[in-house]
Amino acid sequence: MNDKLITVTSPLLPNLDEFIPLLKDIWDRKWLTNNGFYHKELEKALAEYLGVEYISLFTNGTLPLITALQAMRITGEVITTPYSFVATTHSIWWNGLTPVFVDVDPTTGNLDPQKIEEAITPKTTAIMPVHVYGNPCDIEAIQEIADRYGLAVIYDAAHAFNVKVNGRTILDAGDMNTLSFHATKTYNTIEGGALICHDARTKKRIDYLKNFGFAGETTVVAPGINSKMDEIRSAYGLCNLKHIDDAIADRKKAAQKYRAALANVPGISMFKERDDVTYNYSYFPIFVNEKEYGISRDALYAKMKEHNVLGRRYFYPLISNFAIYRGLPSASRENLPVANRMADEVICLPMHAGLTEADVERILSLVRNK
Ligand SMILES: *Cc1c(COP(=O)(O)O)cnc(C)c1O
Repeated sequence: MNDKLITVTSPLLPNLDEFIPLLKDIWDRKWLTNNGFYHKELEKALAEYLGVEYISLFTNGTLPLITALQAMRITGEVITTPYSFVATTHSIWWNGLTPVFVDVDPTTGNLDPQKIEEAITPKTTAIMPVHVYGNPCDIEAIQEIADRYGLAVIYDAAHAFNVKVNGRTILDAGDMNTLSFHATKTYNTIEGGALICHDARTKKRIDYLKNFGFAGETTVVAPGINSKMDEIRSAYGLCNLKHIDDAIADRKKAAQKYRAALANVPGISMFKERDDVTYNYSYFPIFVNEKEYGISRDALYAKMKEHNVLGRRYFYPLISNFAIYRGLPSASRENLPVANRMADEVICLPMHAGLTEADVERILSLVRNK
């Protein structure tokens, strides 16, 4: 097999002519971490770019989830989606809380608001939804339930970098929003992440918590963690931010070709795109209905791999089916039929800014000609 390898993702890398002068400057400054110059610059630049007021950088996208729950002093049970990356549920576990899984809406892959309400108990204190693949959750319905029952809402917005509804960011929904800047994500700082909140006082608490809880030289206000973003990755992030719009435009082109070519393939389905949403094209999931398509999802996945095209079965296995969580009462398959079906049928096709037209054609011919 000598077909060129097409990976599912490929990182946006800084232009070296732009990045190296910043590295030289960091060498001159000899300030490597702890809220340095580039850290502050990236926080400012991201706040402006994303249209949010208060953002704190983190060293990855998992620690802002853990810190958000800690910052809001969440207790008891947290309602969440099983159809996500494991870090979502892990963050609940790391705070000594009980995750309660709720099924998803088949049209978006996101938490079904009606089922959220059915899962509320006296111990429920928060909801942690995910905008899976960058598809916006039903933010209004979730907020209405949260307000009625007095619950906090912390969005895992790891896939929703710069996603907008009617031209307005969704990263200010609920009480807090987290982002991941991992190398596999649309926008990356190699490893990195952020926590977005609504006021200066909360940002201050978050900034203490990501630095061991230090508030000044000699005061520790809470058992915080070390989750600081360093200067080198902050500078890398500034360089990538300059080119992220072009990268998203390239992803969009690939997504449009996929969408048009797969629209009428029996047994292959996709999420519908909404006219009022500005997407970031972070993933391109397709769902394989074995009966109609003729071969199983895993058979298609294996065939693509044989031809050097790497898809990903995101999100399979479902979080609720991992050995560590499957004993929870909410983890049963009967409680989560939609999420289980999606996990059994999904393949994310390669999606990144470096895909050529020929790459897309090769991928499409594998899916169309089974
Ligand atoms: C990537 C991801 C995370 C974790 O981010 P890291 O930066 O890898 O720690 C959390 N939630 C979701 C939904 C993700 O996809």
